[in-house]
Amino acid sequence: MLRLSKSVVGKEEIEAVAKVLQKEYLGMGENVKEFEDLLTDYFDTPSVCVNTGTSAIHLAVQAIGLGPGDEVLVQSLTYVATFQAISATGATSIPCEVYPDSMTIDLEDAKKRITPNTKAIVPVHYGGGPGDLEALYRFAIEHKLRVIEDAAHAFGTLYKGKLIGSFGDICCFSFDGIKNITSGEGGAILTKDEDVLEKIKDARLLGVQKDTDKRYAGQRSWEFDVEYQGWRYHMSNIMAAIGVEQFKKFPFFKQKRQQLAKQYQAAFADFDKVKILDHNYDTAVPHIFTIQVEAEKRDALKEHLKDMGVQTGFHYFPNHMLTKFKIEGLQLPLTEKIHKTLVTLPLHPDLEEEHVATIIKEIKSFLNQS
Ligand SMILES: *Cc1c(COP(=O)(O)O)cnc(C)c1O
Repeated sequence: MLRLSKSVVGKEEIEAVAKVLQKEYLGMGENVKEFEDLLTDYFDTPSVCVNTGTSAIHLAVQAIGLGPGDEVLVQSLTYVATFQAISATGATSIPCEVYPDSMTIDLEDAKKRITPNTKAIVPVHYGGGPGDLEALYRFAIEHKLRVIEDAAHAFGTLYKGKLIGSFGDICCFSFDGIKNITSGEGGAILTKDEDVLEKIKDARLLGVQKDTDKRYAGQRSWEFDVEYQGWRYHMSNIMAAIGVEQFKKFPFFKQKRQQLAKQYQAAFADFDKVKILDHNYDTAVPHIFTIQVEAEKRDALKEHLKDMGVQTGFHYFPNHMLTKFKIEGLQLPLTEKIHKTLVTLPLHPDLEEEHVATIIKEIKSFLNQS
């Protein structure tokens, strides 16, 4: 079976975890500091590591002060994690359409949904491509919105020569098992906003004020004050040790993901039964590779590929169609149409060129016959 996605770990991660276990200091300590320092250097921006990408977004939304009554613009076509992270603060996600060429948030549509309660926009860098981020930041400035980038798909992506996460307002990454790099589970927030950084550092440790530096020195606070709602969202040394090894391997992961995505892209570029995104894989580091096919053929194609030993996925079922996130009277005709055409193809660093060639051949022959 060619897997849709998988963790790619080796003896380096195993040895790093074994070292943490031997030290018998498993919680948040020096390994987390080491991983954070690597990220801070790489992005030239302060970073805070947490236990999931979802908690990264939750803490970011909380840190900019949002809660009940506040509205956040976000594309409906994203992982439910984005919506749950926003609603965890009590704020309301306002689902928006996407541009079908990049699957990033449609700003014309978003503009129509702005109210006096709109406080932030959460762009999702779908498949690793950020779309027109300059336009997005112009939109945010014009409408006085904070920006929290859901960059879970885009670790390592460059935008106009700059790393996603190295500029902008607030940027959240995920290091769950199948993302561009993993720390087992995990996530990080990158921002140059000192106030937001301070709030997130405290909030990940149950709101205990200024506990981070103590933890990094192998200590903890016994007498402290708590002013704000906090959560048990810190990263452990075990996770960070995996993250550090994965970060070292990232140049290889990046090259491999980009190479395979380019192979898919080239093969489907002039094949009219498959529509692909217009991401540039010289600069985007793709977490997933999604194609669009005729809705009537989508399930049969997935079934056929499964029979041929190729696992596929589908990103995503629209959030505004979920019971929890439905909004009375809100419809997104494009998203409702597009999601039925989506198929995600295998993409991970252990996949080889010949595997991708086989997958492409199967898709083309199936769609030409059916
Ligand atoms: C993976 C992912 C998240 C959440 O990250 P976790 O680490 O799994 O909690 C958020 N948004 C998107 C688009 C994702 O793909």
